[in-house]
Amino acid sequence: MIEIPRQKPKFRFAPSPNGPLHLGHALSAILNHDMAAKADGDFLLRIEDIDQTRCTPDFEAGIYADLSWLGLRWQEPVRRQSEHFPAYQQALQTLIARDLVYPAFLTRGEVKARVAAFEADGKPWPRDPDGTPLYPPDDRGRGDAERQRLLASGMKHAWRLDMERAMAAAGGPLHWQESGDGETGRIPADPSVWGDVVLSRSDAPSSYHLSVVVDDAVQGITHVVRGLDLFHATSIHRLLQTLLGLPEPLYHHHRLLLGSDGKKLSKSMGDTGIAEWRRQGLSAAELRRRIGL
Ligand code: GLU
Repeated sequence: MIEIPRQKPKFRFAPSPNGPLHLGHALSAILNHDMAAKADGDFLLRIEDIDQTRCTPDFEAGIYADLSWLGLRWQEPVRRQSEHFPAYQQALQTLIARDLVYPAFLTRGEVKARVAAFEADGKPWPRDPDGTPLYPPDDRGRGDAERQRLLASGMKHAWRLDMERAMAAAGGPLHWQESGDGETGRIPADPSVWGDVVLSRSDAPSSYHLSVVVDDAVQGITHVVRGLDLFHATSIHRLLQTLLGLPEPLYHHHRLLLGSDGKKLSKSMGDTGIAEWRRQGLSAAELRRRIGL
């Protein structure tokens, strides 16, 4: 019988070092680690530090310390996004060359003022699933000559995906395969709800969405296991993967842990930090129990 080589399953935990890890991160990291072990696959670690204003070496050191304390071992080398900006730039250039992104010149303040003026009449401005107002259409409709003139003038700009053109270029409905704690099966992707998402800013050369799809492909990730808060963002990731010709991983969006106030845990909540558990002399086994594992 012919042996068909099986792709080795690869899982990744991808925290941002912009605060201390909390119990929700522990859940995500342990699930990835344990699912990789069960599938006889690899467990990779990626440091998502594109936002250089908020990420610090201390928080990054805290991630390694916390994960080690949890008893997790990951495959080296760790991929640090700040070391791979050229890879994200290259992906952006591909989209620029295909005329699927455009330079967006409105500042955050200008967008905010525009939305406030519109909503003063009592009509709601459209928002994405995270509640962020969609980017106004101004820059999308500019002619090439005007775009070139504004770019040449040195005006600060971001690059945004022209959602309508991008969806047309994707050439048909998009889906992903989901096995998590919410809806499962073949999920239809609807990136249009996010509007013209930002892929690069003047102060951060790549966005989360762009770098995550490039990295998952470069690292050969077959299984993306992460919190349900990123369920809807998967629509954007499937669109970018399709446009850039990148492989489609399987997705598993796990339950979120809530604080005593019923809200999603955040990095500012010291009492649910992994380091705090460590300081209080609790064991990793106790932490596993606390998060229902
Ligand atoms: N860096 C993201 C976070 O810390 C996770 C991204 C992902 O798993 O795709 O929430």
